[in-house]
Amino acid sequence: MARSGRFRRNQSWPFLGAVAGRLGRLATSGLSLLASNVTGPPPEGLSRSERTTGPNRGANLQSSTCHIARLRSQLGEDLGDCVAGGCLQVLWQPQVEIATGRVVAMEALARWCHPRHGAVSPAVFIPIAEATGSIVPLGRHVLDLAIRQLASWQRLHPTLAPPRIAVNLSACQLRDDATLGEWVQERLGAHGVAPGRLELEVTESTLVEHRALAGALLAEMRAGGVRVAIDDFGTGYSNLANLAGLPFDVIKVDRTFVASIGLDPRGTAVTRLILELAERLGAETIAEGVETDDQLAWLARMGATHVQGYRFSEPLDTPGATNVWLRQPWLRAEGLRGVLD
Ligand code: C2E
Ligand code: MG
Ligand code: MG
Repeated sequence: MARSGRFRRNQSWPFLGAVAGRLGRLATSGLSLLASNVTGPPPEGLSRSERTTGPNRGANLQSSTCHIARLRSQLGEDLGDCVAGGCLQVLWQPQVEIATGRVVAMEALARWCHPRHGAVSPAVFIPIAEATGSIVPLGRHVLDLAIRQLASWQRLHPTLAPPRIAVNLSACQLRDDATLGEWVQERLGAHGVAPGRLELEVTESTLVEHRALAGALLAEMRAGGVRVAIDDFGTGYSNLANLAGLPFDVIKVDRTFVASIGLDPRGTAVTRLILELAERLGAETIAEGVETDDQLAWLARMGATHVQGYRFSEPLDTPGATNVWLRQPWLRAEGLRGVLD
């Protein structure tokens, strides 16, 4: 598992340092249950006997459920305050074009550092934002930061094309933010950013479940020059007949497929098929979650056009991302020539 050439871990952001330990603890203390269910381990604070079976199991489960509901509701309020106060932050994860070794884009990944719980994973807080309605201001906040960042990179080096920025959109934004399309165009115009610098990522499952809504907004965005990517492709049981009619520029191959490459022949075969399908549809591909040289070499052979993952870089803060952009071309310079040749 060679990971030697990747960008250095960002020390200034507690999420990256704490992700394994703290989130692990938070997850087992119940935050992982907040989104949808109460079938996992109960939160911290309950005694061992309260966690196990026994005569009081029903009551304990009820108390655990109440605890989780309270925690969830408190987090929902805190998140609303954080978004309103502009405290939510974003990190940027590089996307590398295999043919040139250049970082051509960065994915914006939201980060919430809770004053008491520390770093909370987006896998936990995005569903809370969706349930409480703060996903609409949260989504606009992330888009606004992305557009401002593009403008700032343009100002820094007017002659150098800045990386595109890809922003995740949630299904609830498509449903609840009726003026999102106009707002994005207005923001791009106000900051003098070409629409083609922005990419919107919508998961395959959102496209399957909200086809009409998503299709209409994405077609509008694309008509205005904004790029569209289908995120987590291969996990949403896409109706392939629908795919042909959808407006998109990029297919992001989900990291579960990338993880199977070279280890599981069936997973490798499906990855190959997705890459072939994308090519035939005229779309670029980004393989997500690339962690090893082996995966990179397989992906290059199978025709992937772009890669993203810890092999190249973890999500970076703004100075880190700017530095990466200015160190172009990165991939070959870092000694990966042997992997790709
Ligand atoms: P995603 O859009 O598929 O983003 C990729 C996730 O994979 C990120 O997790 C990233 O940190 C992680 N990742 C990147 N490279 C690797 C790798 O090599 N190995 C592994 N194991 N993981 C890797 P993160 O930042 O925790 O985000 C999780 C999800 O939360 C995102 O998945 C996206 O669906 C959602 N999310 C994050 N930010 C936003 C946002 O601003 N708005 C919305 N609506 N959703 C967001
Ligand atoms: Mg994404
Ligand atoms: Mg993804």
